[in-house]
Amino acid sequence: MECGPAVLTVSSSYLGVDGHVGRTPLVRLRHFSEATGCEILGKAEFMNPGGSVKDRAALGIILDAEKSGALAPGATIVEGTAGNTGIGLTVIGHARGYRSVIVIPETQSPEKISLLRTLGAEVLTVAEKPYSDPGNYNHIARRLAEENRWYWANQFDNLANRQAHFLTTGPEIWEQTNGTIDAFVAAVGTGGTLAGTALALKEKNPLVAAVCADPYGAAMWSWFTLGNPSVNDGDSHAEGIGQSRLTRNLEGLTVDEAYRIPDQEAISAIHQLLREEGLFLGLSSGINIAGAVRYAREHGPGKTIVTILCDSGAKYLSKIYDRKWLEQEGLDPDLRLVS
Ligand code: PMP
Repeated sequence: MECGPAVLTVSSSYLGVDGHVGRTPLVRLRHFSEATGCEILGKAEFMNPGGSVKDRAALGIILDAEKSGALAPGATIVEGTAGNTGIGLTVIGHARGYRSVIVIPETQSPEKISLLRTLGAEVLTVAEKPYSDPGNYNHIARRLAEENRWYWANQFDNLANRQAHFLTTGPEIWEQTNGTIDAFVAAVGTGGTLAGTALALKEKNPLVAAVCADPYGAAMWSWFTLGNPSVNDGDSHAEGIGQSRLTRNLEGLTVDEAYRIPDQEAISAIHQLLREEGLFLGLSSGINIAGAVRYAREHGPGKTIVTILCDSGAKYLSKIYDRKWLEQEGLDPDLRLVS
């Protein structure tokens, strides 16, 4: 019997990894729900093929660029990223025949940087510089695109990012909660997740609250509550979030609540979830969950609150899951967020 590939172009209803972005489970965070009398639910975005919420934006940006003709077959995609968008663009890019060049600040976790290299991205690590500095990683990516005629994904200001969440994350959450959701909580990196998801949910029901959970050292809390994006005091170890400007993806979004979350609350949340519920998450997920708990305490009981479990703790073993590192930073993983 012949078992070689007689017809290579045979069509199939089975999909490659680029067909399996999204449709992630909604996980009940039991302790946080029971302690607050609310349903606190986490969208398990770490289960995407590239391991983060940014796979949705990466796929959305690639599909949009293919449609507009900006991305030719075999082209190179270049992007400035804290890591996860680069991982998404590389994984999904490979599945669709592109190569990737990733510009990443050297302050990001060594796990993400070596993962990007292993996945086959060409990685350029650069010094961490503010957006106003021409040496900022985004500006370097834009210049590389111009000089080499590569495609620049431009996740911060490319609206295909939030559109991906508007078309997928929001409708999935609406369906998974049978329309009972009261509040959606997310931190801001590009703002694509918060804006796209919240706008979709508010279109279904304008009473769904959009809630921003902001780390210290970022400007979103002050933008949403005081109307000016000034960077507040302090700093955060959360990677992938902490925005200092109003990106295009945030334009037109109004939120109902904004909270500033100290790193200790986020550390308490993720270590408690690991010990007590078997969930292994990165620190931005902790900022989100701590924000959801604050909303539950202020507006509960009886609310259904959804937040994003952005990525896995495996990308941060040498930092937020390293006891010595935590001790050096004055962070206590044994403190629980709720009793
Ligand atoms: N958490 C992590 C770990 C991320 O990498 C990012 C994206 N940079 C976010 C949260 C924020 O997502 P968004 O860019 O959609 O605001």
